[in-house]
Amino acid sequence: MDSIADRTQQLLAETARLARASGRAADAVTLVGVSKTQTAERIREAVAAGLRHVGENYVQEALPKLAALADLPVTWHFVGRLQANKTAVIAASFDWVHAIDRLRIAQRLNDQRPEGKGPLDCCIEVNLSGEETKGGATPAELPALAAAIAGMPRLRLRGLMVLPAATPDPLAQREPFARLRRLLEELRIAHPQLDTLSMGMSADIEAAIAEGATLVRIGTALFGGRPPREAPQESLPREPREPQHGAPI
Ligand SMILES: *Cc1c(COP(=O)(O)O)cnc(C)c1O
Repeated sequence: MDSIADRTQQLLAETARLARASGRAADAVTLVGVSKTQTAERIREAVAAGLRHVGENYVQEALPKLAALADLPVTWHFVGRLQANKTAVIAASFDWVHAIDRLRIAQRLNDQRPEGKGPLDCCIEVNLSGEETKGGATPAELPALAAAIAGMPRLRLRGLMVLPAATPDPLAQREPFARLRRLLEELRIAHPQLDTLSMGMSADIEAAIAEGATLVRIGTALFGGRPPREAPQESLPREPREPQHGAPI
């Protein structure tokens, strides 16, 4: 079996190859290694092999790892669902937040981002399925939410993120990614600084990059499978929303 170092190098090369295949520069797509349930030591192996962006989903789990790896040249991404009672720690500890989906969360992150740090890079998560149990702002909510965040001095709105339902069909995989790309193009009329499409995971990286992803969030293909967090879920480890996110507030 390949080591984490091998898989990191393979994924960095694959990301560059897919970026070129989509007509872009080899460095147009950033690989974020999503390391939930993985140890600090395993993250360290990936960073030694060239990974520079690491994503975590759960604040409690992430903080000891961030502390243990503080010596590394890593940009830290919070890719999990955001709860109001966790925003202060996130604003103080992370460089990016991917899943802002409501104004109150954005306001808290803006208020709580420490003065000594630059603005917090952030994306708005978009709910394209219409399922109310899923996180994300609706497409209709986007213009107002984007305008509000763009006006917050301690946040830097970078773009949009999506976590579509898993499907094995490569053409069906492209559909939500194409929709997210069009939504970003519409937002860029009012906000030309937006430059980020956070989309694509282990099973749909190719479809996401073909549709313009600038940032892919890869867990399983890099670190290997994850143990279930609670009772086994039928679709783990592909389940995009794992249990213990807590309800949105
Ligand atoms: C776990 C997770 C990923 C990585 O998923 P894999 O299928 O393991 O690559 C990406 N994004 C988010 C938000 C996640 O929670």
